[in-house]
Amino acid sequence: MASITNLADEALIALDNLQDSAKNLFQPTVRLGVTGLSRSGKTVFITALVHNLLKGGRLPLFEAHASGRIAKAQLNPQPTMDVPRFSYEEHIKTLVEERAWPDSTRAISELRLTLHYESASAFSRRFGAGTLNIDIVDYPGEWLLDLPLLGMTFTEWSRQALELAQKGNRKKLAEKWLKLLAKTDAAKDADENRAIDLAREFTGYLKACREDETALSTLPPGRFLMPGDLKDSPALTFSPLDPGDGEKAASTSLYALMAKRFEAYKDVVVRPFFREHFARLDRQIVLVDPLQAINAGPEALGDLEHALADILRCFRAGSSSWLPSLVLRRIDKILFAATKADHLHHENHQRLEAILNLLVNRAVERAHYAGAKAQVLAMAAVRATKEGVVEEGGETFPVILGEPISGETIGDKTFDGKTQTAVFPGDLPKDVSVLLDETGKGSVAGDLRFVRFRPPKLETTAEGLTLSLPHIRLDRALEFLLGDQLA
Ligand code: GDP
Repeated sequence: MASITNLADEALIALDNLQDSAKNLFQPTVRLGVTGLSRSGKTVFITALVHNLLKGGRLPLFEAHASGRIAKAQLNPQPTMDVPRFSYEEHIKTLVEERAWPDSTRAISELRLTLHYESASAFSRRFGAGTLNIDIVDYPGEWLLDLPLLGMTFTEWSRQALELAQKGNRKKLAEKWLKLLAKTDAAKDADENRAIDLAREFTGYLKACREDETALSTLPPGRFLMPGDLKDSPALTFSPLDPGDGEKAASTSLYALMAKRFEAYKDVVVRPFFREHFARLDRQIVLVDPLQAINAGPEALGDLEHALADILRCFRAGSSSWLPSLVLRRIDKILFAATKADHLHHENHQRLEAILNLLVNRAVERAHYAGAKAQVLAMAAVRATKEGVVEEGGETFPVILGEPISGETIGDKTFDGKTQTAVFPGDLPKDVSVLLDETGKGSVAGDLRFVRFRPPKLETTAEGLTLSLPHIRLDRALEFLLGDQLA
């Protein structure tokens, strides 16, 4: 198995780890990675987490907080100088004052939250009150799915991408790109215009895979979907090519040009992310939106399982890993969290957790995963709905109540964004494994009614105190990710 880093990378990672450990002696710090594919809920999760800790939210299952051991939580300047700060203040204003969802994650950002706490053990208390810095690192899951590229050649990647493009819904979405590819003889001299056209069609195909109705998980390179500063740069102007053309390709060929750019993408984009950010994380939460995939059908769920396996491979320990052992020494806990559980009645929360559990277990097998402790949880970082029952024809139905966002529809009804509405979201099956049945027999695709709700209005107590953002099991997530650090 090829190692994805070179010796210089490993030396730098080792040095960073040493420096971090030295700083840790004086200022205990946890670097918490928050990731997930686009729109999985990273921005909302971080904003809700910080708000609940700063404002003393209701977090009964986060023991240090519930027992009153956290004396103070505050935001402090982050130590990393060359990474944008997570716009907490702007996001919380949007959520609470405008009751709108904030702008989603487009690139990496960071925020330092400091907790001043009293240790639970009498022994540790003798050394005085403790301080824990939590450096929250928000980054797109698409960047994580880029890591396997480091272990692949251009030809291997092309072969894999072309095979995948022949499957299920992807075939139709890839049609334009595949047609252009069929007309391309990549063994011939490189032509920049053809390179640009191929990259554009390939990007179009990747984007189409992520649309709501298809909800296929992604295929690298992640920056093709969120290019940022690198838009139109050569490092982002390539596409998989017919591997057959590679065998007869000269150094002046389109094939050679694209292969060179693929390597440049790894050098300019993937390696720096791996070395400077990923390798320095201690804990990781991976947010997943299984509801979107369930609603799109078994193919989308199968695809999500593959993406989870690829993600798990990034955290795999042991001799078969292509990650250097230096990295794996650090990440010791990973939480897979199904977000947006508030779209379902609580009777279905267990089932939502069960489907994610099943996907993660299958991914664990697929990736031969053994490594950091992984746990699965269904949660909503922000609870936008309440629960109720509706009676109809002598029967009662559990419903969720909320304000659907203006323009959302159920059947022929379009919502105005101002009206509280009761929605019967539908049920996930008791045996969630039928959802993965590739014949589509057990699929509930299209049967579930999901509308996007506006963020909730914050409640006020009798004393006039405004409560923090409501959530579902955010406290359980915090306990798993941080509880032991505050013991
Ligand atoms: P990101 O791309 O991972 O940063 O995703 P966001 O955090 O921006 O979330 C994308 C969208 O998902 C938001 O605009 C909301 O519509 C929805 N969302 C995310 N988290 C929650 C949640 O906890 N509850 C509800 N009801 N919706 C959520």
